[in-house]
Amino acid sequence: MAHAVTPSFEQALNTYEPVLGLETHIELGTASKMFCPCPTAFGAEPNTQVCPVCLAFPGSLPVVNEKAVEGAIRLGLALDCSIAPWGRFARKNYFYPDMPKNYQISQYDEPICVDGHLDVTVDTPEGPRVFRVEIERVHMEEDTGKSSHVGGSTGRIHGASHSNVDYNRAGIPLLEIVTKPITGTGELAPLVARAYAAELRDLVRSLGISDVRMEEGSMRCDVNVSINERGADEWGTRSETKNVNSLRSVERAVRSEIERQAGVLDAGERVVQETRHFQEHLGRSTSGRSKEEAQDYRYFPDPDLVPVAPSEAWIEELRATLPELPAAQRARVTAEWNLSDTELRDLVNADAIGLVEATVTEGAPSAEARKLWLNELSRRATEQEVELSSLPITPAQVARVIALVAEGTLTNKLARQVVEGVLAGEGEPDAVVESRGLKVVSDDGALGAAVDEAIANNADAADKVRGARWPPPVPWWAPS
Ligand code: ADP
Ligand code: MG
Ligand code: ZN
Repeated sequence: MAHAVTPSFEQALNTYEPVLGLETHIELGTASKMFCPCPTAFGAEPNTQVCPVCLAFPGSLPVVNEKAVEGAIRLGLALDCSIAPWGRFARKNYFYPDMPKNYQISQYDEPICVDGHLDVTVDTPEGPRVFRVEIERVHMEEDTGKSSHVGGSTGRIHGASHSNVDYNRAGIPLLEIVTKPITGTGELAPLVARAYAAELRDLVRSLGISDVRMEEGSMRCDVNVSINERGADEWGTRSETKNVNSLRSVERAVRSEIERQAGVLDAGERVVQETRHFQEHLGRSTSGRSKEEAQDYRYFPDPDLVPVAPSEAWIEELRATLPELPAAQRARVTAEWNLSDTELRDLVNADAIGLVEATVTEGAPSAEARKLWLNELSRRATEQEVELSSLPITPAQVARVIALVAEGTLTNKLARQVVEGVLAGEGEPDAVVESRGLKVVSDDGALGAAVDEAIANNADAADKVRGARWPPPVPWWAPS
């Protein structure tokens, strides 16, 4: 058997075309869990946010969290899905130590939302290109607990002496959003996958149903990739890379998987249907469990729960709560602020549209607001490795700094020092101007007194200036 040699991404794309599918889990920010009243706050002492229901004590009964259903429906509406008028929860049976029930309550063949779509924009050398990603379903389920492995050097189960399990997370509501197969992206596949994850994150954030922090695990992507020879009638066998935890990793997971599968097919071998794990430090995935024999989860409707049957009226009520969605917001600010494609992209990449808009609402011109957030403040956020919105400065304070420049109290250079003062916790912009003595002096009397004082204190220098020949002699090379 020929040995698989991994070709470059470009080589792979000469022969094959990729098909993608993304399954994204989002942890809802509800106050209580999916089926019990336990709190969901992050970071509590292990096993303090548990009760007989989420620990699956015999005889305990789950009750559906209305707020979680509301979140699912609002996301479904924002994705232009149909909302099922009736649907049951199902038990997905499997054993895992961090899952006390030995089954997960999920939705199987009766998901709450189906058939939606999300448009994503990708930058290409020819300008922005829009791809429509079809959404297969959005369904509700519950999270598992968390195991930690103790005694080994790596924190992994291998080499550990024992494991601890924390059930605080068990039963936290999750939404799973599953795309239909995404075709026709060619070499843009990694960027489309990344743009989809970013767009979905922004959409969910705008709905306020989750904090969608990939690095903290409240949004996790499973990335399915297959490739087939260009023009083939059938798609290839897919692999599924689990729990990819950053936008950059989504992009890299797709790219490296296309390359790997191309190497396998080039060598005349076949791609195995399997679960893979993305290794952040390697920039690619490694093989996990084979899915060749599909696991039998013995799904069946959960007899302990009543069906979810949202009324037309309730769905319409929820539709009315939808905010302006990110795509509409981008279109609007592009027109209002007269932005070029590049200017819009910079704002999107810096995650600054909302901040700039809030600064404009506080009275700043959009151009100045954009400049401050994108240059000075973005630089500081990057330096401190925090998100722009986490900087300790408010849009109102930024607007005040801009106003102080506009009225001539500050130069741009002094404005930067005021921003620095605000970020350092020295108070409001006006207080920083006062305490640091940063005002531009434009009053003639005060200026004259300062000049006189400077001359008196520097008599030598002043004499030299007085004695200097002025105008200086004309140099020989000067044009006549
Ligand atoms: P599972 O339950 O085993 O994860 P699903 O049917 O839910 O399987 O599909 C998982 C994801 O994979 C979906 O997003 C789907 O669109 C996508 N998908 C299905 N077939 C392919 C394929 N040949 N190549 C890439 N992605 C695929
Ligand atoms: Mg899956
Ligand atoms: Zn509980």
